[in-house]
Formats: sequence, C-alpha cells, structure tokens
Amino acid sequence: MTIDPKTFSPQPGEFKDKTFLITGASDGIGRALAIGCARFGATVLIAGRSVEKLEAVYDEILAVGAPRPSIIALDFAQADGDAYTALSDSVAAENDALHGLVNNAGLLGDLSPFEHYDLVTWQQVMHVNVTAAVALTQVLMPNLKSADSASVIFSSSSVGRKGRAYWGAYSVSKFAIEGFSQVLADENRKSGLRVNCVNPGSTRTDMRLKAFPAEDRSKLPTPEEVLAPYYYLLSDASVGCNGESLDAQ
Ligand code: NDP
Repeated sequence: MTIDPKTFSPQPGEFKDKTFLITGASDGIGRALAIGCARFGATVLIAGRSVEKLEAVYDEILAVGAPRPSIIALDFAQADGDAYTALSDSVAAENDALHGLVNNAGLLGDLSPFEHYDLVTWQQVMHVNVTAAVALTQVLMPNLKSADSASVIFSSSSVGRKGRAYWGAYSVSKFAIEGFSQVLADENRKSGLRVNCVNPGSTRTDMRLKAFPAEDRSKLPTPEEVLAPYYYLLSDASVGCNGESLDAQ
C-alpha cells in the first residue's frame, strides 16, 4: 500500500521510545508538532529562544499525560560553538540516541525590493535560517547516528523552490536549506540517516501574519492541520525516503 505523506496519521504510541529535537517549538508549526509528537509517545526536546513560551509548551505536554519533555533555550542569532557543543553533550547525556531532528525555527526578515533590502537583516535571516540549522545538525550527527534510522527534517517553503519578488533573504535561505538537505541526504545514502524537507504551505501562524497582515486568517489551515508529512518523515513508515522535499498542502 502506498502511503500519502499529506494524509499520514500516526498510530497511538507511534513514537513511543523515540526522542525528537524540534526547533522553533515555542510557537506556530514547531509548537504544534512538539505537542503532537508527545501525544503519540515521543520524548520531545523543545528548542527555542523564549523560556517563558517553552515552559507553556512544556506544561501543555505534561497536561496531556505525554512523556516529560526537555527545554532547550537557545537563541540561534546569538549561539556560538560552545553553546552548540554543550547542547549536543546534554542531549547525549540524557538520551540513548536522537531519532529525529526537526530544523523548523525560522525568521521572515523583510519583504521589500532588493534595492532597499537592509543587509544587516539579510545576514540575520541567513544566519538563523541556514547557518544555525547547519551548525545544530552538525553537532547532533553523533546523537543521530546512535539511532538505527534517524530522520532529519528542514521546514522549507515554496519560495525556496521558485524565487519570488520581494521575498529576499527568506527565499534565498530556503533555497540554501533545500540544497543543504540534498547534500546531506546524498552523503548519508548508506548510513541509514534520512534527510528531507517539508514545505508546510500557507499556515495560520505569526510568521504568516507578518507576511500577509491583511488576509483573512480564518481561511488558512492551523499548524495542527499541516503536520502529516512531518509525522510521516519522523515515523518508521518513511525509512528509505531520503533527499525529498514534501508538501503539506
Ligand atoms: P512562527 O513565527 O510561528 O514560529 C517561528 C519559530 O522560530 C518560533 O518558535 C520562534 O521563536 C523561532 N525562532 C525565530 N527566531 C529564532 C531564533 N533567533 N532563535 C531560536 N528560535 C527562533 O513561524 P511558523 O511556525 O509559521 O514557521 C515555522 C517554519 O515553517 C519556518 O521555518 C517557516 O519558514 C516555515 N514556513 C511557514 C509557513 C507559514 O505559512 N506559516 C509557510 C512556509 C514555510 P519565538 O517564539 O521566540 O519567536
């Protein structure tokens, strides 16, 4: 039977005994994914820059009787090499292996004609959306390779496949992440590690609101409604799926 990642639905206990690290877990899609994975039995390591917001997610996960999560407070705009190494060490000390890494945190930056694009903002967007995700993935490779078949996922975007006027650094950063995902996938064809992208599509989050402040938000899917391909890629059903870029909608 062929599985459609857009409609994949995990079974109860699907992620029992699995540990996933999800960035951008304080809000939007990452938050919904963290709570959802925990509901299906995963121990989730929730990463973000606001401890207050992460604590609210932590409480919500405990309230549904899911495994106790861990909070990882890290601002990707500020983190240095020592911070990444400390993170990897603590993940290794507290978990036998890391079964999934979802590089989901993202920054929109400016939407403006290129001639007016602020280059400091350009650099921040590239740093948070690309360099930080690359650095995090690199330090966590040993943790991921301790699992039989771990899954690395990047939240991408349609503007990371086809450039769009005024989307500047955000669009370029998503092209970069699609490229990096393919490089890493190809390097790991024989290691058992799988690496893929997901384009969630237009979703009712703060980032979308910033990009399209005038649109009718009620027509957009909620973060909970775009999680199917993430669940698919984190589940054993996707073993062998490597180097792909999936759509949620
Ligand atoms: P949100 O703005 O709702 O959430 C973004 C998350 O990234 C938040 O948890 C935010 O933390 C975190 N983040 C931002 N900057 C940093 C930083 N410097 N350090 C650590 N964490 C940071 O966005 P979405 O949920 O909409 O987006 C999730 C992913 O999906 C992004 O990669 C985005 O590009 C992608 N995407 C979203 C679409 C949409 O329509 N919503 C469409 C296509 C792709 P904090 O809570 O502290 O702000």
